Parts: sequence; C-alpha cells; structure tokens
Amino acid sequence: MRIIARSAAIEQQDWQQILASAIRSPEQLFAALRLPATDLSARQQAASTFPLLVPEPYLRKMEPGNPDDPLLRQVMPDAEELVAMPGYVTDPLGEQQANVTPGIVHKYNGRLLLLAATGCAVNCRYCFRRHFDYTDNRLSRRQWQTALDYVRDDPSISEVILSGGDPLMLKDDALDELLEAIGHISHVRRLRIHTRLPVVIPQRLTDHLIQQLSASHLSISLVLHINHPNELDALFRQYIQPLRQAGITLLNQSVLLNGVNNRVDTLVNLSQSLFDAGILPYYLHLLDPVTGTHHFDNPEQEALALYRQLHQQLPGYLLPRLVREEAGKAGKSLILMDDNF
Ligand SMILES: *Cc1c(COP(=O)(O)O)cnc(C)c1O
Ligand code: SF4
Repeated sequence: MRIIARSAAIEQQDWQQILASAIRSPEQLFAALRLPATDLSARQQAASTFPLLVPEPYLRKMEPGNPDDPLLRQVMPDAEELVAMPGYVTDPLGEQQANVTPGIVHKYNGRLLLLAATGCAVNCRYCFRRHFDYTDNRLSRRQWQTALDYVRDDPSISEVILSGGDPLMLKDDALDELLEAIGHISHVRRLRIHTRLPVVIPQRLTDHLIQQLSASHLSISLVLHINHPNELDALFRQYIQPLRQAGITLLNQSVLLNGVNNRVDTLVNLSQSLFDAGILPYYLHLLDPVTGTHHFDNPEQEALALYRQLHQQLPGYLLPRLVREEAGKAGKSLILMDDNF
C-alpha cells in the first residue's frame, strides 16, 4: 500500500526496537550531536526526576553541532528545571481531581479522556504531565472494564479521546481491543487520538494500525503534537500519508515555547508545512505553569503580539486557536485579540 519505498535500514525497523535503543542520558545526546557536554551535573539531576528519552528518528531531525537546536531544547534536561518559581506547581490543571475513575479524566462536556497508556516515546521537558501520578492509572484488566463501563454508562459522551502518556505506546493488539470495545458503545461517534509518537518514531504508524483505524465505523481523528517545522521531515511525511488516504482527520496542537518556536517566521512556516503534510493547525497552547518549565514560558502579552502578526500573515484556516488550559474549566480558554489589532 505504501507509495514510497522505504530504503534506509532504520526505516525497516520495528518501532519497539527503535524505542528500546533510544538515547537515555545527556552525555549520549551531546555525543550523538557532536556537542561539548556542558552543565552535566545539573542536567543529570534534572533527568533524575524526569528522565531523558530521545529516539533516533527524532535525533536525526536535529542539527549536529548546534547547541541551540529547537528540537534539542525540547528534550535536553536543563539546570533551569531545578529552579523553584512562584506560580509554578505540579498539577496546574487539577487533573488529579477530574480523575473520576482510574484511567478516565472527565472534565469536558460530551467528551472524556481515556488515559490509554502511561509512558511516552519521548520526554518533553515542558510537559504538563511531568509530575502526573501515573501509578494509579496503569490499568489492570478489571480497571479497563471499569473505565469502559464509565463511558458506556454516560450517554452524553459522544467522543472518546485517547490520551496518556501517549496512547500509541499501546501495542497494536491492545489498541485493536480498545477500538473494538469503544466501537460497541452506541453513543460514542468519534474517537480522537492525541499523540506525539508519529513525530518521534514515524514507524509507529504500522500498516496494521492504519488498517484498524480505517476499518472502524467511528469518525477518527489524530491530533499530532508538533511544535517546530523541523519536526516535519521526509520520513514523517512518508508515514503520515497513508493516514490521509485512509480518511483520518489530521490536526495539530503546539505549545508556544520560548527558545523553540516563539517567532513569527517559525510559526508561519509551521502552519504552512503542516498543511502541506495534510495536517490542520488546531491549537497553539500557552505553557501550563508546571514546576520545572518556567524557562519555556512566554508572557501572555508577548504571545498575543506574536499572534496578531500570525493573524496578519496567515489565512484563517492556517491560524491555530490561541488557548490556555485552566483548572476546573469545561474546555480550554480562548485568548482573544482586542478589537483594534
Ligand atoms: C485540550 C486537550 C484535549 C481536549 O480538548 P478539545 O477542546 O476537545 O480539543 C484533549 N487532550 C489534550 C492533551 C488536550 O490538551
Ligand atoms: S509526548 Fe506529550 S505527554 Fe509525552 S512527554 Fe511529550 S508533551 Fe508530555
């Protein structure tokens, strides 16, 4: 079914093998990029609370020898993570409260999050889940049933959002079972998968997975988490193509990150490159104030100034919604421009 032949050896590899051989220490990452190792003890300390994890296909998108590479910055532990800042807390979204039953976060109307897997294939330093307590959410077989019963018992739920961690960390057979079970709940019409896995290991988009998604009667969308145009390389585009052909809606959400993508030209390029790959920009998130992430923040006024310029340069359908998530709200809060922009 694939249109473009895969040639390089890595492209033949199984995604789980690629994950197993991912880079797991600052020293290794510096060496792979031919960079001098700096601030090692602080980086190791930061990595001791939230480990470094970078698979090879993501590494390949970075520029060797560039210490300021925007992809490197997303994954390299930094001394700034150790600085305590007022206003930055471990659970700014109040997710622990909305965690109604193991594996379910129900705080939006008509839709809920099913935390399908606890891990990710990359550890992003700005992550809002870096302190989330997953130990209660690693589901046993019985808990899976309880979580699915929760969805079954609430007819107001028309959309199930697979989240995590990264739901595509589930192996194909486990995902098959889950899709099948959700497909049997009559009031659920839409299934959404929030994932960054195809960005860091495109090989995760196996033929089997694509077949399963296209065979489901549910309307399926995939929300990718892409922050920078360099993340959309040829390998990624090649693997994402069959999803489009299978009729799956592809959306993207980004986080506005200081030192990564907080420039107008970068964000314009990101929206255009996403569209070229068949993906629509959906959200541009302000950073959640999570402990250890303050160095990625952009003040709201600066974010708005950037957004005004984006609005001037892009057609409406390439302009993501600028949002922030607030604890206890039944949806994201839109950040609006004033009238005289
Ligand atoms: C915002 C968000 C959702 C759901 O929000 P929608 O407004 O329904 O798009 C789900 N998962 C993640 C990770 C989110 O950030
Ligand atoms: S992939 Fe998403 S959930 Fe996982 S570490 Fe990165 S930002 Fe966090």
